Amino acid sequence: MIDKFDFDATLLTTNFATRLLAMEVDKDVLIDRTLEAFCDLGSCQNATLMMYDDHRQLKGVAASVKGRRFTINEEIPLTDAMTEAADSLRPVVRPVCNDTEFPLPAKSCASKNTCLCVPLVGSRDLIRGFVTLYRDKSSPWEIAELFQLGIISTVAAVSFENSKLFRQTIEDSLTGLYMRRYLFIRLSEEVQRVKRRHGDLSVIMLDIDHFKLVNDTYGHAAGDKVLKAVADVLHKSSRKGVDIPCRYGGEEFAVLMPGSKKEEAEIVAERIRRACEENIISASDCHIKVTLSSGVASIDECDPQSGDELLRRADKRLYRAKESGRNMIVCIDS
Ligand code: GH3
Ligand code: MG
Ligand code: MG
Repeated sequence: MIDKFDFDATLLTTNFATRLLAMEVDKDVLIDRTLEAFCDLGSCQNATLMMYDDHRQLKGVAASVKGRRFTINEEIPLTDAMTEAADSLRPVVRPVCNDTEFPLPAKSCASKNTCLCVPLVGSRDLIRGFVTLYRDKSSPWEIAELFQLGIISTVAAVSFENSKLFRQTIEDSLTGLYMRRYLFIRLSEEVQRVKRRHGDLSVIMLDIDHFKLVNDTYGHAAGDKVLKAVADVLHKSSRKGVDIPCRYGGEEFAVLMPGSKKEEAEIVAERIRRACEENIISASDCHIKVTLSSGVASIDECDPQSGDELLRRADKRLYRAKESGRNMIVCIDS
């Protein structure tokens, strides 16, 4: 039985997969890499990843069906196999009825397929979720494969924990935007990149107009809803994985745009300004509208290429936008 197992190839894949998982902090990338690692090491094309959310609700997160990846967001009831896997902290094999239930976990019954349910065991033996893998009964799982999948499950679970801790240190809890601290870290990295490769880099600084009036008129809780709504506009207007939208301070925001020229940043700033102006925010039984003033600057205006100067220029222009009547964008010095 053991000679069917290709140790060299499996060690190579395990080595590659564990390193890729351990060094990643982005949750979405981790989801992809986890499914990929399980499918590779489990020699199958069908797999489902389920994870507990912050309320300890088990959710289907993503699946691989015949090698094709897609996301899901569905509550999953615990099956007997999951309960057994969670209690024993070990993978559990079950026959499954048919493929029609896939990607949701199948109920146990006699059939030509088997389902392997692997618990994602993290620190302090906490179960972070499960991966279920589906394979034809004619190719049963070898003991050595189960050990390999056990290694991957622990690395994946701990990487998901790390990713959550990392997010908490860089994300503003009210708005979900990045914190100012993270903006400074990324700014200095991006400035170094520009120095080496002569790329583009721009920043938009934004501030809600007359926000104090919102708090004074509708209350602090309504003010918080407005902050969240503005953050939502920034999220939607930013390129995921490229731009860095952040909460710079109370009702001030910044979007760092690596690789973007000033003209591109100006277009995004205008898109944000208009979306905000048109947005009607429901809070405390009332409808609130706010506007934004913005300043835009790019690294090619700064000499020597300095992140501090980039922010200072954008900030100066933001205050010119305020002085000039608010709800506008300023991109040049007067
Ligand atoms: P301007 O158009 O000149 O920017 O006027 P403004 O009223 O927006 O600016 P000002 O600096 O006078 O007021 C900012 C207000 O933002 C005051 C502060 O209480 C409020 N604020 C800061 N952080 C928060 C927060 O987290 N939640 C709420 N609700 N309000 C906040
Ligand atoms: Mg303001
Ligand atoms: Mg302000």
